[in-house]
Amino acid sequence: MKTLPNTPFVKEAQEYVRRRGISLEDLGSDYFRPMIQRAKERIREAIKYGIVRTVLEDPDVEIISYPIAILILSQIGDPFLSARYAVAEAKRVNSLLREEEDSVLLYITQHTFQWKVFKVSTKVMGRTYAFAIYFRDYLRGVPRGEIAWKLINRPLIDGYVLLQKYELARLIEEALRKRIESLCSERPSSEMRLPTALEKAIEEVIELYRPYRERIGSLSELRAGGSISREAFPPCIKALLDDLERGKNLPHMARFTLATFLLNIGMSIDEVLDLFRRTPDFNESKARYQIEHVAGLRGSKIKYLPPSCSTLKTFGLCTSPDEFCSRVRHPLAYYAKKMRRGRK
Ligand code: SF4
Repeated sequence: MKTLPNTPFVKEAQEYVRRRGISLEDLGSDYFRPMIQRAKERIREAIKYGIVRTVLEDPDVEIISYPIAILILSQIGDPFLSARYAVAEAKRVNSLLREEEDSVLLYITQHTFQWKVFKVSTKVMGRTYAFAIYFRDYLRGVPRGEIAWKLINRPLIDGYVLLQKYELARLIEEALRKRIESLCSERPSSEMRLPTALEKAIEEVIELYRPYRERIGSLSELRAGGSISREAFPPCIKALLDDLERGKNLPHMARFTLATFLLNIGMSIDEVLDLFRRTPDFNESKARYQIEHVAGLRGSKIKYLPPSCSTLKTFGLCTSPDEFCSRVRHPLAYYAKKMRRGRK
């Protein structure tokens, strides 16, 4: 299959690695040195650029370096690093799949993810759709909190959701991201004896990531004891901060809500930017531009407010409202009321 080195996550690539019967001990031999080198490179590209490059010089190196990278990350056990790698690898696959033939996307979804997908050529309201996916499989893979992906906004025929090619590639990206994150989070057995070459690679990756990791810090430092009280945050904002703490990839609306809320209660652009360093696809210049934009320093020069409670409900971002929520229609009103009550 011509996509094997491009897509080392597919079933065939995994079977190929399994058939080779490579043991941990084998990884210490000179033969696997380029594979370990490429695995480190994959992680370095994820840390530095937020996307892994596709390299096709040696298919064996490309296929085998992928599980080695996951092994290194599971040994390190840092959820932020694992999440960043998962996003970077999944993004690479998305951009490749957009250029691939439809049959390749079909094959991957059916054989690697066991989704019910088939080819169509259907026009609905002026848009031509190339694929149909069974709605349960669609719901499993759909990106969270993005209104365009809600089932209610999708053309649906006999239980199948119609998709364009870039949309199916996006679903594969999301499914792959989750799969990689889950593989990286598997705790290795304490009995596992790693060859020196792999131990060295792990130390190098930790060293490489250290400056990025140190800047992330802890959310509990959020102006503790200062003018901002996390205790007074509404449940929706606390939930978004919890997701950020766990290194989850927040959808656009969630990021907008969090950034505008924090800026409007008095956090500085740099403080908000530092919080967003936790997002797995963090890109400093892009994030700074977006935060400055919603703070009213760029573009239209409008300082944005967070969305109202009713908008957040529509986007599925009103999480576990408490009894205090029944008295407000806006997260900022919740915060202001709670702060006033706290001062009494
Ligand atoms: S009701 Fe409003 S303030 Fe309360 S959790 Fe929902 S969106 Fe947030």
